Amino acid sequence: MRTGQTHLFIPGPTNVPEAVRRAMNVPQQDMRAADFGALTLPLFAGLKRVLRTESGTVFLFPGSGTGAWEAAITNTLSPGDRVLMSRFGQFSHLWAEMAERLGLEVDLIDVDWGEGVPVETYAERLAADTGHTIKGVFVTHNETATGVTSDVAAVRAALDAAGHPALLFVDGVSSIASIDFRMDEWGVDLAVTGSQKGLMLPAGLGVLGVSAKALAASETATMRRAYFIFADMVAMNAGGYFPYTPPTPLFHGLAAALARIEAEGLDAVIARHHRLAEGVRRAVAAWGLDLVAARPALYSDTVSAIRVPDGVDAREVIRIAYERYNASLGSGLAQLAGRVFRIGHLGDLNEGMCLAALGIAELALNEAGARVEFGAGVAAAQAYYAETRDGAGAVAAAAE
Ligand SMILES: *Cc1c(COP(=O)(O)O)cnc(C)c1O
Repeated sequence: MRTGQTHLFIPGPTNVPEAVRRAMNVPQQDMRAADFGALTLPLFAGLKRVLRTESGTVFLFPGSGTGAWEAAITNTLSPGDRVLMSRFGQFSHLWAEMAERLGLEVDLIDVDWGEGVPVETYAERLAADTGHTIKGVFVTHNETATGVTSDVAAVRAALDAAGHPALLFVDGVSSIASIDFRMDEWGVDLAVTGSQKGLMLPAGLGVLGVSAKALAASETATMRRAYFIFADMVAMNAGGYFPYTPPTPLFHGLAAALARIEAEGLDAVIARHHRLAEGVRRAVAAWGLDLVAARPALYSDTVSAIRVPDGVDAREVIRIAYERYNASLGSGLAQLAGRVFRIGHLGDLNEGMCLAALGIAELALNEAGARVEFGAGVAAAQAYYAETRDGAGAVAAAAE
């Protein structure tokens, strides 16, 4: 029998705020009722603010982030289209695999896990592609497997410098609503996320931001599509309706989650993620352990992937945290299995939750055979949180 809270320190699904959970506890309702749009239309407007887009269109597909990946591709590209992708973690790997399954010709650049999108190589490939055979350029903004955030603005700059018209696809599943993301400013054509990460909801919604250019492309693209169809959504969403039964309780939760983000302020949400993440990073440094992310410019503010010392099995760390301390830590994925554990620090989170994660990680690390000093990581995070409590760190981060 387990007492107390079960802690969720994974990078998704994230903790659902109590107010959001209660907001979802509603009777089922008529999805064709005259007033249904009063619930749904503000969600599109709120998500546009979160994506920082005015000219884009937001779609809410029943599904998860992976479904939104698929919708983005099948609606805007044609079989055999050439796309530029890079792989540096499990999520960028899976998106590339999907593109191949869907019959795209993928120019896949393999990069060391711990690095981010290879902007220089992208720039070279785009400049060399004077015939504009590349139809899509893909960026995994925040690689959740390695805790690496890539520079989307730099990829946009590379496209512009080459005068290249390819669509810019961005996986923002673990960045949107947590890390700075600017759909319009960065010229993102397809912005993908899911409900269960920064948006603090259960899984169930694939969220897609679509630029006017991508919407126009969907009218001529010929890839087969059946369930995820932009045109059907556009027609029905105008009145706040959907082409098939939507998950209305999630919509109520989304309304509550968006209200929380607006009450805190998106800039403050982003600054909070930075500050909480930095405390975790101070702890990792105090333990004498390394992050997978190769250098500070790549550090993710939503997830830290932490290498365990040689001879220690990260799976043991995770097992001990779960079985003895009621705490879920993220696992090392694919080639990082056994070598890495992850702390997810995104969504509805505060200092106390991060300190609990660090304290439990110290216990589990030691019990799995790693010699880290009890309290060292916790103390380093505490010192940083105390130092930045007045918002000084947060303000500085927001101004960067
Ligand atoms: C979680 C995640 C996904 C997959 O999303 P699902 O909602 O699980 O389908 C894709 N990309 C990134 C970066 C993620 O973190």
